[in-house]
Amino acid sequence: MHDEDRAALYRALDDIGDALLDGYRSGHALPDFEALISPDSLDSPPDSTAPKQDPAGPRSRGGLLGRDSDNLNGIAADIMRCRACRLVSARRRPIAGSGSNQAALFIIGERPDGSDEDSATAMSGAAGALMTRMLLAIGLDRSRDCFVTTAVKCRPPMDREPAPDEQAACQTFIERQIQIIGPRAILTFGRIPAQLLLGRRDGLARLRGQIHDWRGIPLVATHHPAAILLDETLKRPAWEDLKLIKTILSDD
Ligand code: SF4
Repeated sequence: MHDEDRAALYRALDDIGDALLDGYRSGHALPDFEALISPDSLDSPPDSTAPKQDPAGPRSRGGLLGRDSDNLNGIAADIMRCRACRLVSARRRPIAGSGSNQAALFIIGERPDGSDEDSATAMSGAAGALMTRMLLAIGLDRSRDCFVTTAVKCRPPMDREPAPDEQAACQTFIERQIQIIGPRAILTFGRIPAQLLLGRRDGLARLRGQIHDWRGIPLVATHHPAAILLDETLKRPAWEDLKLIKTILSDD
């Protein structure tokens, strides 16, 4: 190996080490992660490397025509190197989301928490376990039938609520993920993702219990599993919302 190549390799390894330890906050220029690391090491499963193949051709629902150059791993790579909002300063790692690239149901939580960062998986921990049981109750397997992500991909400091400008900065990633997957329905957990996608400021009490339309895709908002764990009276309305999802998927 030439000395120049060896030096470039050491610089790349140094950059990767800094990124892993310090969330890209070192003084180094950002490395080209797409070129340096395998897509298989990203958050999305190996089967999500390619856009969903639809025998009818690119999806046209709601005008969401697929972008040939985009795919879930490309979006995950963009998220890994994103510095578009202040949440980059405190995150341990961004959480792109995971699940099936042919998901019937696209699920959006609010923001990653410590469990999510530890496991590199959106909606993990006790809330994620409850979500998995809720999905099973309507016949859906989380990995096989769903793609799960959050409204912002980076954990806010002190687990605070993401600010509107942080949500807006991250919205493009959700839109690209939905565009690639082309789900039959969207389920949002908590107030934030519903407000973000619907462009409304109403509370969850006004947003849940009905079927909205997001660019031609039915969207149902319901209580966050973490909130249900704290208040059991939310179980019944959440179940009513899940039945709406079941109806949508059955009718489709
Ligand atoms: Fe980028 Fe989203 Fe993370 Fe902000 S929260 S740095 S927009 S990936």
